[in-house]
Amino acid sequence: MTRVLLLLPTTTYRAPDFLEAARRLDVDVTVASEEPNALEGMQPAGLLTIDFRDPQSCARLVAEFARRHPIDAVIGADDDTVVAAAAISLALGLPANPPEAVAAARHKGTLRRRLAAAGVPNPRSRLFRLEDGPDGAARTVTYPCVLKPTFLAASRGVIRADDPDSFRAAWRRIEAILRQPDVSAKGGAAAREILVEEYVAGAEVAVEGLLRNGELEILAVFDKPDPLEGPFFEETIYVTPSRLPEATLAAVAHSTEQACRALGLVDGPIHAELRINSAGPSVIEVAARSIGGLCSRTLSFGAGISLEELILRHALRREEGRTPRDPRAAGVMMIPIRRGGRLEKVSGLEQARAVPDVEEVVVSAHAGQLLVPLPEGSRYLGFIFSRASTVDRAEAALREAHAALTFQIGD
Ligand code: ADP
Repeated sequence: MTRVLLLLPTTTYRAPDFLEAARRLDVDVTVASEEPNALEGMQPAGLLTIDFRDPQSCARLVAEFARRHPIDAVIGADDDTVVAAAAISLALGLPANPPEAVAAARHKGTLRRRLAAAGVPNPRSRLFRLEDGPDGAARTVTYPCVLKPTFLAASRGVIRADDPDSFRAAWRRIEAILRQPDVSAKGGAAAREILVEEYVAGAEVAVEGLLRNGELEILAVFDKPDPLEGPFFEETIYVTPSRLPEATLAAVAHSTEQACRALGLVDGPIHAELRINSAGPSVIEVAARSIGGLCSRTLSFGAGISLEELILRHALRREEGRTPRDPRAAGVMMIPIRRGGRLEKVSGLEQARAVPDVEEVVVSAHAGQLLVPLPEGSRYLGFIFSRASTVDRAEAALREAHAALTFQIGD
């Protein structure tokens, strides 16, 4: 029997879609998480507890486990698990990205250095240490700029500064995030760094791709129609296919390929963010994982194959030729947290679901949950999905459904 190991942190949004894909492929699943699960003793082959922050110990532990329960593929679905997944794959002799390449993509400072060294267009940057303090740094950088932690995700701690005053305020705010115990434990030495980048103006796209032996297939390009100009960069609407001209999309594909090559990524899913202006595309980020949240539900391949199934098939070397994407326009809205507090009540769900072209509305936050907006937070209230005859319609449906929803938030 074939077995896949899914690395799923307790906070992941990605569990149900990968588990469903594994079920469809009829493979056995072992789930590794960072916290012991109450069921672990009862299901020795189904659950593992490993520390994703220590890829080498993950590799040792899983290699030991795999002697009893052989593993055929390892999936790290989230930023926090991709390096561990690569290290485990290497230890098991499974085809995967070199752990060093995945680690380079995971650290935003290293990513910048590698892309710049390879001549891949990306924002100029400087890495500071918290002990440097904001005053000297505020005098030496150029404005506007973007300050960010080097290892967080979902735009957490990413702040634009237009002048020294806003720079100092942003620095202090990021410093407070980096001092949160869970963040500093996760980041280690990186939790003492702030990366400052040149602010790149322009339209932004997200690219979903799959690498096979270093060859990149672009699976989808999403437009992000809401302006992302800061000071915080809240992800909201993604729509696909992109409305950008073919030539621009070709340039986006080329830059994404160059970025993968510069990092040494050769296998499996990639997710990239690029900004495009008159100078062409600039690579904001490339990660050795698939799209986050529940956003992959916008994509469907061949006869109803999900992105997760495609990724699993690839990892198991069970692909049956290329499976083209469902050509219909689709969109997702990550419902942003506009105000902090406890979620009390959600209303308007029925109206939102009844909006034409809306496929589903998922409220992932639960009643009583403490909601933390950006830049400190990293979660969403939920997700709205649409599918329509045109991209404009898919986008309009998301906006209409969102307008129908009310989130009652208490203090
Ligand atoms: P994360 O990995 O947390 O998503 P990113 O570095 O991708 O962090 O930044 C999140 C968002 O912030 C990007 O999608 C983009 O909209 C914006 N952003 C980040 N860096 C820059 C930059 N140098 N110039 C302009 N916008 C940026």
